[in-house]
Amino acid sequence: MEETRKGSLGNPQNTIDIIKKHQFAFQKKFGQNFLIDTHVLDKIIQAAEITDRDCVLEIGPGIGTMTQRLAEAARHVVAVEIDKNLIPILDETLRDYDNITVINQDILKMDISELVKEYNDRKPVKVVANLPYYITTPIIMGLFESQVPIDNLTVMVQKEVAQRMQVGPGSKDYGALSLAVQYYAKPYLVANVPPNCFIPRPNVGSAVIRLTRHQEPPVRTADPGLMFRLIRASFNQRRKTLQNGLNNSAELDYPKEAIAEAIDSLGLPPSVRGETLTLEQFARLADWFAAFDNIC
Ligand code: SAM
Repeated sequence: MEETRKGSLGNPQNTIDIIKKHQFAFQKKFGQNFLIDTHVLDKIIQAAEITDRDCVLEIGPGIGTMTQRLAEAARHVVAVEIDKNLIPILDETLRDYDNITVINQDILKMDISELVKEYNDRKPVKVVANLPYYITTPIIMGLFESQVPIDNLTVMVQKEVAQRMQVGPGSKDYGALSLAVQYYAKPYLVANVPPNCFIPRPNVGSAVIRLTRHQEPPVRTADPGLMFRLIRASFNQRRKTLQNGLNNSAELDYPKEAIAEAIDSLGLPPSVRGETLTLEQFARLADWFAAFDNIC
């Protein structure tokens, strides 16, 4: 069998060859669907706007298909892979590159700020990932909320998740994820990616989305943590009124009368539903309750 040369992955035959050679068994629990489409790889690299000054964090390199491309564009790539069975494969596919660090770890258990400190002197990194779908939301939100210095994230996610990240009030897909993503970043849909671009084929459609971190959040609030508790409470019971959602939340403990007054202070009717509020309105609601907390 032919040796794996520099930049040679990213098509179905080479991927199958390397998988067979190492007798690699796909693990469903790690969401392993490897990209086999060079056009999609090109689009991801282009969208991430990687330059030779950049340090890139890749989450889940798999057999190293995207890692090779990233290493050709960036100054340094740190690739974090949970599956120890992929490490000997990565040793082979990435051996011609001297600017890649592979770490065999669960990204959810890592201190990413420490990585950024070690490999990029605390300066913002670019994150690129074809994410296992079960950890998409915790990874993205964890990265934003922990204030890790990030320039942008270019990620492959389930098509519906990409949709949810981009929409505003009035869409059935609007929810806590839309508001959280839009508070921290500007979403941009790079491409829709059909199942036949992966081995094995996933059951759902995928999409690449780029999230460019805001320098300043688009709305200001006295207490962002409280704002996100209010948002979660409002969407927990989507069909209920905002009043009931806030009242029934285990994360909040405000008297009924205070909730009614807060809603009224925004000029909204008592029957309003949380799903109709904009990010700006949630920020004002959080300010009202923050002031209420200060008085009480
Ligand atoms: N980047 C490769 C590609 O595009 O072909 C592989 C993508 S595959 C959808 C997801 C990868 O993430 C797999 O290699 C999987 O083992 C890895 N992974 C899953 N959970 C992980 C975790 N918690 N931390 C790090 N890597 C993880």
